[in-house]
Amino acid sequence: MNFQHDIIIVGAGLAGLRAAVECVDRADVAVVSKVLPTRSHSGAAQGGIAASLGNEEEDNWEWHMFDTVKGSDYLADQDAVEIMVRDAPRVIYELEHMGVPFSRNAAGKIAQRNFGGHTQDYGKRPVKRACHASDRTGRVVLDTLFDQCLRKNVKFYQEQYVLSLVFEEGKCMGVVTYDLSSGELNLIAARAVLLATGGCGKIYKTTSNGFASTGDGFGLAYQSGIPLQDMEFIQIHPTGLYPLGILVSEAARGEGGILRNKMGERFMERYAPTVKDLAPRDIVSRSILTEVKEGRGFDRDYVHLDLMHLGEERIMEKLWEITSFVRIYLGIDPVKDPIPVLPTIHYIMGGIPTDSEGRVFIDEKGTVVQGLFAAGECACVSVHGGNRLGCNSLLDLLVFGRRSGIAMKQYISESGTSTISYEPLKMVQAKIDGLLDHKGKEKIDDIRRMMQSLMMDRCSVFRNEGGLKKGIEETRSLKERYRDINIENKGPSYNYELMEAIELGHQLELAEVILLSALNRKESRGAHFRDDFPERDDTNYLKHTLVFLNEKPDVRYKPVKITRFKPQPRNY
Ligand SMILES: Cc1cc2nc3c(=O)[nH]c(=O)nc-3n(C[C@H](O)[C@H](O)[C@H](O)COP(=O)(O)OP(=O)(O)OC[C@H]3O[C@@H](n4cnc5c(N)ncnc54)[C@H](O)[C@@H]3O)c2cc1C
Repeated sequence: MNFQHDIIIVGAGLAGLRAAVECVDRADVAVVSKVLPTRSHSGAAQGGIAASLGNEEEDNWEWHMFDTVKGSDYLADQDAVEIMVRDAPRVIYELEHMGVPFSRNAAGKIAQRNFGGHTQDYGKRPVKRACHASDRTGRVVLDTLFDQCLRKNVKFYQEQYVLSLVFEEGKCMGVVTYDLSSGELNLIAARAVLLATGGCGKIYKTTSNGFASTGDGFGLAYQSGIPLQDMEFIQIHPTGLYPLGILVSEAARGEGGILRNKMGERFMERYAPTVKDLAPRDIVSRSILTEVKEGRGFDRDYVHLDLMHLGEERIMEKLWEITSFVRIYLGIDPVKDPIPVLPTIHYIMGGIPTDSEGRVFIDEKGTVVQGLFAAGECACVSVHGGNRLGCNSLLDLLVFGRRSGIAMKQYISESGTSTISYEPLKMVQAKIDGLLDHKGKEKIDDIRRMMQSLMMDRCSVFRNEGGLKKGIEETRSLKERYRDINIENKGPSYNYELMEAIELGHQLELAEVILLSALNRKESRGAHFRDDFPERDDTNYLKHTLVFLNEKPDVRYKPVKITRFKPQPRNY
């Protein structure tokens, strides 16, 4: 089938929906999503959105900016960070006016709580900056934005999987989708396309990410000749439920939860004497694994998160959902017992390189791809640099989702209409037929499991040259095996086996890009910690990585934008 809209948004998380709400007044906008829109991973966000409202104690955007830049280990582009933190209070009031039911404090104002790395007065003490709706913040914002989209007549193509971006004469002009319910391919033409496809945690074995976070958007861009930026920076959240990896939000420590080793010691006092349990995630994850490695963990691989001193009333009011997860999945009651936790793969700081209007760069010189935009976790603007602070992702999605919406409206008002040929549809059809007809001997499940384990072993909290090189070899051998996969299900309707095969193709490419970026960065910065190069090296590596898909992946660099805060040692 053939459809046409002014703007296509791929992804129905907060980035995609916020962009849609922004541009639908001037354009015919459609959102494509492989899952039902309200099942997007944004709905799982628990903790909150950072904004210097100062409702609980004194705060301002400059402190928020300092914390974000320091948290990023000085790799974030400071011009973009400034845009984001200055806009944050407006974002919160706008959501409130759209209908988001934020939690309130005793004075009736929007309540705020502590989150890791957010401080007062340039790092002196923790500050309450996270605006939240209990521990269901993402859920209520996603539902509110979805309602707004329906009210404004945004068209949804749900359960449609984008297989390919369509380019005509270097301009992005649409997408080819696979309709999961019918198995048919659609060509959707558009004058601008936004990628808002979320993260890629599912490349790893233990992750907090939902099953849709397979990194398709990164893969679609990379295959189209667009580089991927800073992919070595993978955030590993300190507190996943042991052994499943399901997230126990940082809100738990924000409300006063304490990490303890098997002697009952509050060990974060040794690693981050000022902010303790509220240190940024990269530091807390390394501290937990150091405790475990040195024999102070439980059963060789976890520590305890203690909420018991908070009391039942506070726990049930502020951490209801987290508590129910712990009760359901582990049969433990956090009111009476400590929660076993281990670090879990959570977020990717890198992604598709963009400017602060969501325009995608095709090289290190800043050349823009016409018609293509990216926002949200799949994009790298870069406001998180080497390590993202908690509650800054939802903020990033809302600020840069909106700005992309504005930029796309502007772009289509200046670009003419043109038609696209059926050629891309035929090429994608041939690829799908090829996959279904091939009688191979490899199983998708086997290759995926091996990829997830190797990424966990070779490129997690601690990395080194030997492991990364081995990881690259292993990934290349899995890519070879992938050529010989067998898809048993040939049916047209809800053929998830086919969809997972395509996702796995993207994931293997991304695994290689992540490993290669990590191998080439011979220093430790933010979430990227090299045992063999444990220090930060600003002389050689204060720069962004870019990996291009040429004959083989090609690594280049571009400078970091530093405006207000010169790099300093990062102590907490
Ligand atoms: C458990 C959890 C808790 C979190 N808590 C917080 C928090 O409290 N505060 C915070 O700031 N951040 C938090 N984060 C991070 C934050 O939630 C994510 O970074 C963010 O939700 C990503 O949003 P997004 O709009 O980029 O994409 P997502 O919400 O992940 O949505 C991706 C969309 O893309 C679509 N899609 C993907 N590929 C395709 C394809 N090939 N074809 C069609 N559609 C496709 C999907 O269907 C989906 O609609 C949390 C993350 C997790 C996992």
